[in-house]
Amino acid sequence: LTIVCGLAAVAGSAWLIAAPGSLPAILLLIAAALGFAVTMVLPIGGADAPVVISLLNAATGIAVALAGFVLDEPVLIIGGGLVGASGSILTKLMADAMNRSIPAIMLGGFGPGDAQPAASAAGARVRTVTVDDVAIQLAYADRVVIVPGYGLAAAQAQHELAALASQLDQHGVQVGYAIHPVAGRMPGHMDVLLAEANVPYPQLLNLEQANQALPRADVALVVGANDVTNPAARRPGNPVSGMPILDVDRAQQVVVIKRSLGHGYAGIDNELYSNPRTGMLFSDAKQALTDLLAALRAYLPAA
Ligand code: NDP
Repeated sequence: LTIVCGLAAVAGSAWLIAAPGSLPAILLLIAAALGFAVTMVLPIGGADAPVVISLLNAATGIAVALAGFVLDEPVLIIGGGLVGASGSILTKLMADAMNRSIPAIMLGGFGPGDAQPAASAAGARVRTVTVDDVAIQLAYADRVVIVPGYGLAAAQAQHELAALASQLDQHGVQVGYAIHPVAGRMPGHMDVLLAEANVPYPQLLNLEQANQALPRADVALVVGANDVTNPAARRPGNPVSGMPILDVDRAQQVVVIKRSLGHGYAGIDNELYSNPRTGMLFSDAKQALTDLLAALRAYLPAA
């Protein structure tokens, strides 16, 4: 269907060139282009989707710049050129962050399915922990790495998280925030969110820095992040395969704050949750962090 729509779009273009202004040719071209776009993008899912969104944004800019040449309108050329160039750079950076090439993303929409089925988080046994358990773990830790994800943004809990981290920091706990390049729902989502809560910039760790810090961390505190921590990415054949992940499973202890065993954007189970070192604190992120801060204050009196 994609090929048929593509050929129809080419035929529509040729028809339009041969007969400029022909209404049926324009309608054919529009219908074929719409069909092509939908069938091309539909099979691309999971971790590849943000790259496609960024690529389409870049294409919008390029289309505007080309329209600028046709209409002899310098503002359109400059504006479209800026959007096209910055969008293309962003697409390349995001594709690199996902460890994918752009043609592989566009053409390799369907995966063969998970080669080795994941230990189903829904069926697997997970260890649940209470707010007090986590507060004690944090109070006795020397190094804590916080892993924020989309759930933090959904819960609007960045201020509570920053307050918790600052409380730990005041008591000599070394705190870092592990920022995955595609955590959240748009590029730079976590950076913007944490900047809004006045998190000190030096505490932000990029993927490489975070993966060096995680094995030395006493506690990795995952707040509403899912796909970016999924060890299944190290195996082929699933929607997050090959995506560089934060090696949260290598920390001494892991605490995950989320509401359920529900999936993330990629729609697959996360094996981290059934890891014996992982404790699940099932709660809304904002509520959990508020309770955690109150409990922590009991263990760490104000400095
Ligand atoms: P995920 O989408 O993998 O997971 C977010 C988790 O947050 C969910 O499992 C959900 O679990 C939990 N959650 C939702 N609401 C709340 C809440 N109120 N309180 C606590 N937890 C909550 O997020 P990640 O950040 O780990 O990964 C980002 C994903 O989005 C990647 O797959 C990435 O490719 C994709 N993406 C990224 C873009 C980007 O540019 N950054 C753009 C588009 C997609 P539960 O329901 O159980 O609470």
